Amino acid sequence: MKKWISGLLLVGVVVAGVLVMRAQSLGVEVEAVPPAPVLALDEPALAARLARGLRIATVSHADPAKVDTQAFDDFHALLAELYPRVHAALQLERIGTHSLLYRWAGRDETLAPALLAAHMDVVPIEPGTESQWTHAPFGGVIAGDFIWGRGALDDKSCLMGLLESAELLLAEGFAPPRTLYLAFGADEEVGGAGGAVEIARTLRQRGVRLAFTLDEGSAVTQGIIAGVKPPVAAVMAGEKGYITFRLSLHGEGGHSSTPTPDAVIPRLARAVARLDAQPMPARLTPPVAKMLDRVAPEMPFPARLLIANRALFEPLVLRVLSQSSITNALIRTTQAITVFDAGVKDNVLPSEAHALVNYRLLPGDSIDGVRTHIVEVIDDPSIEVRPTEEFGNEAPPLSDPDAPAFKLLERTVQQIFPAAIVSSGIILATTDNRHYAGIADQSYYFAPFVYTPDDQSRIHGTDERIKVGDYANMVRFYTQLMRNAGGV
Ligand SMILES: [Zn+2]
Repeated sequence: MKKWISGLLLVGVVVAGVLVMRAQSLGVEVEAVPPAPVLALDEPALAARLARGLRIATVSHADPAKVDTQAFDDFHALLAELYPRVHAALQLERIGTHSLLYRWAGRDETLAPALLAAHMDVVPIEPGTESQWTHAPFGGVIAGDFIWGRGALDDKSCLMGLLESAELLLAEGFAPPRTLYLAFGADEEVGGAGGAVEIARTLRQRGVRLAFTLDEGSAVTQGIIAGVKPPVAAVMAGEKGYITFRLSLHGEGGHSSTPTPDAVIPRLARAVARLDAQPMPARLTPPVAKMLDRVAPEMPFPARLLIANRALFEPLVLRVLSQSSITNALIRTTQAITVFDAGVKDNVLPSEAHALVNYRLLPGDSIDGVRTHIVEVIDDPSIEVRPTEEFGNEAPPLSDPDAPAFKLLERTVQQIFPAAIVSSGIILATTDNRHYAGIADQSYYFAPFVYTPDDQSRIHGTDERIKVGDYANMVRFYTQLMRNAGGV
């Protein structure tokens, strides 16, 4: 999971004058929920257990032959050792090679189950950067209020935090009202084909229909959205799809001493330039509209005013959002021309030219729709347009940011992070969550850790770490969520 909503300061100063006459209250009604009493936890012991998990280098790899399977076996053994009640009370299945599916039977069979997802694999350390780490990346060091190591944020804190919560609730004799699945993929960072895909297939075969899923992808952000002071807990309700199209043009090659008037390079270049000038259309989806509504009261005056009047000024809002590359990605299928390939020698006219254009699909747009867009805009039937064979997927359907399951998450956030504004949106990265979309009524994205601008380079980068107190709050959040989860 990656960085996503920095820079949401909507300029818009120029339009303020026009909008003053339309000023009105936003009328955002957020039900006040009192904070939960702070759950007493042995924080040093929690930190020590997470640190042990970080010491095991569960690095996934696209080539299964290159995976250190012993590390994954060791990680499983560690979980069994650290969480004995979970392993005694919950059903556990190993899916694929190393993914884990726990089933915690609920008291009420009439309630649809929920699935709480996390992944045990981590990305490798970029070669040459090992020495830049303050503490060894797989050292699991606790120092200066932090637990250091690859996976501290992405995503072992979620995985072990969920198990901590289940373990302490079991010690109290708690049984969840609805059945809870804990689904832990072993290959999220390389696409999830052997993990979440197989877990979803297994559940589907058994006729399981989930009320909701919760996976990583967002956090309690602090100082990420420019101009907004309070923390923002962004419970995201969608993720983007992914496809790359290859544009190919074949023509007459020849000698450069007698150039033909319509050579393949300039002709394909003109088509690509037309495409670049015409992005896919922008629109506000309900999660992004909810994000605007929730953060707007905290934003500087012109932006606040613009958003308050967005029903009237939607085209203007979209234009303003288009001006930042981050907010632009929230409102449209983005297109990025990433490869242009033609020619071999300075005195030879090539007979073919190719370009690759990468799209990140806004939920609601389809791969077919993107193809139609390309064909219409380039307006050149000689150019072949086809998706590359590599990894591609439609965007999963959007979830409802007003559904009861969203309100359940919102209430839980308010109980544990009372200072935070609960917002929504869509994530720009991909997670395992998309694989469960076909068997879930709602899919949400939220990891209950605090994420600051300083953390942006740490996830998948150097010096990944989590504050001991923040990890304890993750456990408090998951515990409260499991308690609340019967109430949807
Ligand atoms: Zn992750």
